Amino acid sequence: MKSLAIIGAGIAGITLARQLQGSAEVRIFEKSRGLGGRMATRRADSYQFDHGAQFFTARSEQFQNLINDCVADKQIQAWLPRILTLDSQKKPFKREWFEPHYVATPDMNSLCKTLALGLNVTMNTQVAGIDAVKQGWQLKDSSGEQLGQFDWVISTAPAPQANELLPDCFAYKSQLSTVDFSPCFSLMLGYKSAHKLNFDAAVVRNSPLSWIASNSSKPDRPSSFSLMVHSDNTWARTQLESNIDDVRHRMLEALDKLMGDALPPPDHIAIHRWKYAKADTNCEESFLLDESNRLAACGDWCSGHRVEDAYLSGLKLGEQLQTLWYGRT
Ligand SMILES: Cc1cc2nc3c(=O)[nH]c(=O)nc-3n(C[C@H](O)[C@H](O)[C@H](O)COP(=O)(O)OP(=O)(O)OC[C@H]3O[C@@H](n4cnc5c(N)ncnc54)[C@H](O)[C@@H]3O)c2cc1C
Repeated sequence: MKSLAIIGAGIAGITLARQLQGSAEVRIFEKSRGLGGRMATRRADSYQFDHGAQFFTARSEQFQNLINDCVADKQIQAWLPRILTLDSQKKPFKREWFEPHYVATPDMNSLCKTLALGLNVTMNTQVAGIDAVKQGWQLKDSSGEQLGQFDWVISTAPAPQANELLPDCFAYKSQLSTVDFSPCFSLMLGYKSAHKLNFDAAVVRNSPLSWIASNSSKPDRPSSFSLMVHSDNTWARTQLESNIDDVRHRMLEALDKLMGDALPPPDHIAIHRWKYAKADTNCEESFLLDESNRLAACGDWCSGHRVEDAYLSGLKLGEQLQTLWYGRT
């Protein structure tokens, strides 16, 4: 049986591993302590925050099929927030969503946790080196410790990180280097008492902020009132090297300006910086597969910037590898 190392336990890596489980010896290495990558959730006191992806939509049959199965098992539910557009220069106006928007329950990263059941995942392990050996590839971690030898290595990290990690012989290095990612700051605010707002989620214009959502308005969440505030991606680029306390202060100021008296000061404040949040460009392929070197890369950035794009990238690469190895999917 072929052996395969997958770098990253986001939705792309987990989907790929599920697709190949049984056809190859698959091991996933994940640098952080949680599954899900940018489908992330954080807890603090009684508060809970989905501080990465807010929701997902399904425009393909394949992703809709997964959603249908998970909805039946109550692992995914539709989210029906009251939505506004808030503009620092205009009056707020109501928005409609014209397609279903879903969230994983009871938190965003639980979908990946469920999908990863039965997979061989090594957490807290950053792959830092991929060296050619006679029989394939030798992986090592950031302290130089050997992680094993594999026939194939596949990165599902954001393209700039994949570019740093994959060996120079990877045939698609130039495509990796053209994919541009925007950063984002996620401000997590918890309030001891609930506050009545005239929206559950707001798209924000003309502000350092781009999104405000009541995390507690999502299905199956704890009731403690919690707000998730995202920065604007372009603004975040200008703040990437700033002191994180200054960024937090500027985002709170921008929130005050939009909300006026509607919100008291929060009782809990935390901030997270996503250096690689959103792929602004992509390589217009579902995945990058270098058969002769037995290396590949996949992830949302291959053909988009959303959860569904990441899922399809992992799924299609898995199908392609099965066809390549066994002439079937
Ligand atoms: C703030 C924010 C808001 C978003 N909002 C939405 C939204 O509302 N709707 C939507 O559809 N999408 C949204 N997205 C995008 C969505 O989260 C991504 O498209 C999707 O989660 C990407 O999945 P992925 O598996 O391709 O990559 P990732 O989730 O980034 O997974 C890659 C994994 O690789 C790991 N990794 C990287 N390097 C290494 C290494 N050297 N060794 C080991 N592990 C490594 C990382 O830790 C990570 O877990 C949002 C993203 C962010 C950050």
